[in-house]
Amino acid sequence: MKITFLGTGTSQGVPVIGCQCPVCQSTNPLDNRLRVSSWIEIGDKSLIIDMTPDFRYQMLRARVPRIDAVLITHEHRDHIGGLDDIRPYNFRQEQSINIYAQQRVCDEIVQAYQYIFKKSDYPGIPQLNLVPIAENLPFSLFDNQITIQPIPVMHGKLPILGYRIGDFAYLTDVKTIPESSFELLKGLKVLVTSALHQIEHHSHATLDEAIAIAQRINAKQTYFIHMSHYMGLHSEVSRQLPANIQFAYDMLSIGL
Ligand SMILES: [Zn+2]
Ligand SMILES: [Zn+2]
Ligand SMILES: [Zn+2]
Repeated sequence: MKITFLGTGTSQGVPVIGCQCPVCQSTNPLDNRLRVSSWIEIGDKSLIIDMTPDFRYQMLRARVPRIDAVLITHEHRDHIGGLDDIRPYNFRQEQSINIYAQQRVCDEIVQAYQYIFKKSDYPGIPQLNLVPIAENLPFSLFDNQITIQPIPVMHGKLPILGYRIGDFAYLTDVKTIPESSFELLKGLKVLVTSALHQIEHHSHATLDEAIAIAQRINAKQTYFIHMSHYMGLHSEVSRQLPANIQFAYDMLSIGL
């Protein structure tokens, strides 16, 4: 299993349009963050978590050759803004692609992309099958080749999903984690979770809150994602992290 971070930034990306702050002006590539998404390769299968407004460029940059399934964490635009750009994969693979999400998120996607789902006969629209999943039951893909455990987390007041595959878990836009979900996160080798910046936010964990979450879950290695430009320069703020926690950066790949 290989995970490639396609984007590690918060909803506006970093740099933020027009911002003159040191992070947005930094020439260090580690300070440039597209919207948050990951590519998971398991055997010959290729999964994408979330389809951001940067999806097209992310697929080109990482040279993602095919997509077998998409997992969506929630309906905010920084996580579903790239759906239309699935089309090159439809054309090349000559098939529609399954998108897995909880029922509320499927409904929001249908609302946001009515031209895709209202069964018009316009040729060339994206071919996507929305597959609603139960928030707490594992589901399997590709004739049971891959089993995925959804992990309910709270994005402020909004219940959203992370996903666990084997010893790897991917959570984003986390503010708090219900007790029952901590039970589902035991024995991880790799945890990916979000840390927005250092100051309080109503729907995202701060750096200190994210460190506390990571230390409680106690994966062998934790990677933070969904950082804003207020987090600070990568070269400086990385030094504040405990030994088994680090900031992910765009195009970082890890094997497990
Ligand atoms: Zn987000
Ligand atoms: Zn900035
Ligand atoms: Zn969000």
